[in-house]
Amino acid sequence: MKNIAIIGSTGSIGRQTVNVVQRYPERFRVVALCAGGDGQTFLEQVRALRPEYCALYDERAAEGVRAHVPQGVAFASGKAACAAVAGYDLADTVVVAVSGFAGLEYVLTAVQAKKDIALANKESLVCGGELVLSAVKEQGVHLAPVDSEHSALWQCLAFRRDAPYRRLILTASGGPFRTLSKAELAKVTVRDALKHPTWNMGAKITIDSATLLNKGFEVIEAQWLYNAPPEKIDTVVHPESIVHSLVELEDGAVLAQMSYPSMELPIQLALTYPERFPVGIRPLNLAEIGALHFYPLDQEKFPCFALALQSAKAGGTMPCILNGAGEVAVQSFLRERISFTGIAEIIEEVLSAAVPQRADSFAALVAADDWARRKAEAVIVKRSV
Ligand code: MG
Repeated sequence: MKNIAIIGSTGSIGRQTVNVVQRYPERFRVVALCAGGDGQTFLEQVRALRPEYCALYDERAAEGVRAHVPQGVAFASGKAACAAVAGYDLADTVVVAVSGFAGLEYVLTAVQAKKDIALANKESLVCGGELVLSAVKEQGVHLAPVDSEHSALWQCLAFRRDAPYRRLILTASGGPFRTLSKAELAKVTVRDALKHPTWNMGAKITIDSATLLNKGFEVIEAQWLYNAPPEKIDTVVHPESIVHSLVELEDGAVLAQMSYPSMELPIQLALTYPERFPVGIRPLNLAEIGALHFYPLDQEKFPCFALALQSAKAGGTMPCILNGAGEVAVQSFLRERISFTGIAEIIEEVLSAAVPQRADSFAALVAADDWARRKAEAVIVKRSV
């Protein structure tokens, strides 16, 4: 029996983690969970899972929930109450399923408390890869990727993040706008951008997938997870999302992991590896699919990808600044304050004004994130007058 804590239980990855737990009640027990502000889903989960401890980040949502939490389940609200889930005494593994820079603090708290991590929050590695990986090493805990591409690489490397390889090949669906021209991209709406062709995900990552900023994040994530220099990582567009990524080994053999798109597979595997159990996805029917396609990634059309790679090359706090600016730009796009192509323009302007600092402390990352957000907001305001 594995005791699990879930950070962000009501989001897309959180809900799918709950599905995995409920599929194998004899293997998994949720001992603690926390969520943001979706009190309704949170209560349903708490009633079904009966954790020992649960928390809601949003104080107002917590007021509506408090009287309905079942007896025998401890409940608290606010930031510190959620951090307590990350370090919950009885948990063996913490699933970090929140998105954004906010995930970093939970990851660091859980690692310091000697918890194994199932990591769905890529931003914690983009922003704080150096800090997270050194803490993981120091505390001797396991870090299992949940991101589908990184899970695919990990599977091809036989669950060894330190296994030798010649090249990592990340696949990208290319998002919903793969075939649009640059002029057409400037006119896409929030509704268009929220319709991902192959994956059903939260709003932020769906927009990041449409701009390909997400794929840039994933290159940085792979650099940290597999100790990969940039020249050993290639990215290829694969619209069918059947091949989830590939590893080229020393002798030139290339291994791929394939399946119909399902996040429950990487989530479950992060909790059961090296063992595997049915996930309930349908058997792959290659004859029915017929053909798989691969194309080069157009960095000129999707500048967010190139900006991410540049920030990684500059190093230090630059990827953290990229992320902070990106989070503000995406929120502004979702509120229709800027255009789709404005997202890359905002990030580029913030990065060009930034001075990289060392990224070896949490305080330095918080300062960089804060600076990036304020700078991005100022750039957006300046553009709109
Ligand atoms: Mg991914």
